[in-house]
Amino acid sequence: VEKTPSWTTEFAAAFRTLPDLYRFLDWDPPAGALAVAQTYPLFVPRRLARMIKAEGPGGVLAREFLPDGAELALSEGLADPIGDQAFLRAPQLVHRYKTRALFTPTSVCPVHCRYCFRKNELAADHDLFQRDFDQTLAYLARHPEVTELIFTGGDPLTLSNDRLETYLSAFADLGTLRDVRFHTRYPVILPERLDAGFADLLREYRGRFRTLSLAIHVNHVRELDDEVRDRVRSLNGLPVQLLSQTVLLRGVNDSVTALRELIDELVSLRVRPYYLHHPDQVKGGLHFYLPLAEGRVLYQALRDELPGWALPQYVIDIPGGHGKVAAFNPETYAFEGRLISRTGAVVELREPELH
Ligand code: SF4
Repeated sequence: VEKTPSWTTEFAAAFRTLPDLYRFLDWDPPAGALAVAQTYPLFVPRRLARMIKAEGPGGVLAREFLPDGAELALSEGLADPIGDQAFLRAPQLVHRYKTRALFTPTSVCPVHCRYCFRKNELAADHDLFQRDFDQTLAYLARHPEVTELIFTGGDPLTLSNDRLETYLSAFADLGTLRDVRFHTRYPVILPERLDAGFADLLREYRGRFRTLSLAIHVNHVRELDDEVRDRVRSLNGLPVQLLSQTVLLRGVNDSVTALRELIDELVSLRVRPYYLHHPDQVKGGLHFYLPLAEGRVLYQALRDELPGWALPQYVIDIPGGHGKVAAFNPETYAFEGRLISRTGAVVELREPELH
């Protein structure tokens, strides 16, 4: 039986109510925050709350993780901005691209990011998370063309190491999956989660898949305090490819300096900058949105400043389930609001009007 790890204690002690959190911060909640927290629940671990407090009420951490009246004030936006629902092929399994599928074994995260593209699904008891693992496995067995499985959620590292092992073992036994990737925010939010048991799991399964990857979700260099840096450095000795994924967010990292500082730090930690996501047009998160044209200008400037190998791919999920495509390439730089879809069609991106 697995010993109770310390991160679960940290998890249990997280702030879940507005009065508790703001009493700790010693700040007044912003106007409308109470109503917001009733619609989109609050979840902030204590360690992060201390960082938010140290940075102050106007800081990027407060913007990323504290409720904002704008979440309800801007009524536009999509509940399922990337159209996962249409590609839900088996319980907890989204199969949209030929060779890879998403596995969503939990709806629980170590924090509630206010910009989250799944914030409406996570707030409801959504179909995406209904479990029937036999059916999930049966689907993968019928679809050997799926060679990469991406554990996402919620955050898959919310599961215990025993539970992860159960899944990894069953997936390895299929014999068709070569690559396994975990998308997670734990290394930054609750770094204790990267415990010895998880390291053992990676070592144990290294030989059963071609690659194991950990894509760390991080948006700003201020998320990376000394503890996080130490923990990420400690992962370098493990048989896991370290990648990053970042969401471009208005008021958080929408400047060349912020992105450059983050990427520089990731490279120093030997994390390969992998994805820079254009923000999704999610209902309740539109105050983080910035126009594609603006994102392209930022990315072009980044291209001038970084070596090619340090440049994350700038991608966008075209609303309506059209899938993830390049948000930038030199040929379409002057393409204004248009994108080239996965089928080669030119798609006019419909963007919200922001005031
Ligand atoms: S960790 Fe990811 S899925 Fe969870 S709230 Fe944040 S953005 Fe959403």
